Amino acid sequence: MPRHSVAMTAAHHHDLRQHLFRDDGQEDICLATYTVSTGSYRTTRLITGIELPRDGEREVHGNATITGSYVLRVAAQAAREQRGVVIMHSHPRGHRWQQMSAPDADAESSFAGLVEQLTGLPLVGMTLAGDGAWSARVWVDSKPESATSVRRVGATLHTSWNDGLVPSPADVATQARTISAWGENLHRDITRLRILVVGVGSVGLDIVQRLAATGVLAVGVMDFDRIEPLNRDRMIGATRRDARLRRRKVDIAARLARQAATAETFTVVRHHDSVCSPTGLADALDYDVIFSCVDRPWPRAVLNTLAYADLIPVIDGGIAIDTFETGGMRGATRRSQTTTPGVPCLACTGQIDMSEVALEMSGDLDDPEYIRRAGRTSVSGRPNVAALCAGVSSAQLDQFVSLIAHPAGLGVPGALRFNLAVHHLEHLPHLTQRYCATEGQTNFGDGRIDLTRSSGPWSAPNRPRMRWRGWINLIDRILESVANRGP
Ligand SMILES: [Zn+2]
Ligand SMILES: [Zn+2]
Repeated sequence: MPRHSVAMTAAHHHDLRQHLFRDDGQEDICLATYTVSTGSYRTTRLITGIELPRDGEREVHGNATITGSYVLRVAAQAAREQRGVVIMHSHPRGHRWQQMSAPDADAESSFAGLVEQLTGLPLVGMTLAGDGAWSARVWVDSKPESATSVRRVGATLHTSWNDGLVPSPADVATQARTISAWGENLHRDITRLRILVVGVGSVGLDIVQRLAATGVLAVGVMDFDRIEPLNRDRMIGATRRDARLRRRKVDIAARLARQAATAETFTVVRHHDSVCSPTGLADALDYDVIFSCVDRPWPRAVLNTLAYADLIPVIDGGIAIDTFETGGMRGATRRSQTTTPGVPCLACTGQIDMSEVALEMSGDLDDPEYIRRAGRTSVSGRPNVAALCAGVSSAQLDQFVSLIAHPAGLGVPGALRFNLAVHHLEHLPHLTQRYCATEGQTNFGDGRIDLTRSSGPWSAPNRPRMRWRGWINLIDRILESVANRGP
């Protein structure tokens, strides 16, 4: 069965609250439209517009009802815009995920067939509880299929979970100290988030272990690269043997995450792929939050796009170490930023240079001759130091905690820059640029600009050719299991 979820911007949530919560305490109702974001196994409906009732299109009498002409009007408009229709109503005295009452089910089912016929997309029903929690179902073949979650995305991320489909973690005793930081209810919401770490080199490898230790139930790791001896001075936890066997970085990340995990049932999903490929992108769309730990412009640009188009916050970070020609360190600059609706994107803050994205897509960014002629510096092989990588993961995790636990009621800041030489942290004053194409595609879902390609560096064979490989791997596994058995 396909899994359904629903997402909306914080701005839409705010406007819907204004309408659906009445001063007289009665239920209210309205319609909205949606677009679709199709992942590998999850389909997310993204709220695109609110269509408030006109005079005579709805009645409030304890619970609220709408007229067929209101549904027809909005469905016809949605059909022209290739969107679907949502019926939303409120349960002012409800808490958390709501079940449908018999009149709710009757009302929604009576419109489901008509709406699907007109728009070609199933009707979505949603309920807003008094505590701000949403619940949702998708009417497929006149039957309601419950969504797994509804998320509200902006400078803060709030997710309401369907406990029946995504159970709250059973035992959280080992996470008592974590819970005392942000409370048990929020902890149970946070640990059910599906979090993807894209790029599990120095920084991503650290982040994934800290997410696992926090008690998160499901983490994804995505990287198409394999470890080399040259990576070991930054990939903490990777062994000499990993490097000798050129193991996949996702396998190393999965092993370390499992060792750090505190959840009783912990799942780590390995994607040996690039987010720049259509399969990698579809896998990424199954997640609720993404850490961008890549150091190249193209995957950054893809992630920047889906943060807005698919309402999945992307937490980006990086470091640039500046050296003298004669050797020696001039300085280091660390940046961190969460891209999410309401906050400027990576292109507006200068973190992505779109001309570099085009160069990388054409392959020229890795052509030494081109780079020399163009007077550019190479993207790969830049200096990096393990001691400074921890600061990058820390800055990204700070952004994560602001996003999900919103200390002091505040969400993520704008872009931050730390200058190591003078130990100064700056809030960069960037605003959304007037013609920003990325933020203009908020809620576009599958209609987003497609930056993926079916072939690229990830599709080239990077498996080392080694005679006796099978035997070496087997002996290696035996040695490792003996070593891990411990005293
Ligand atoms: Zn109801
Ligand atoms: Zn922008």
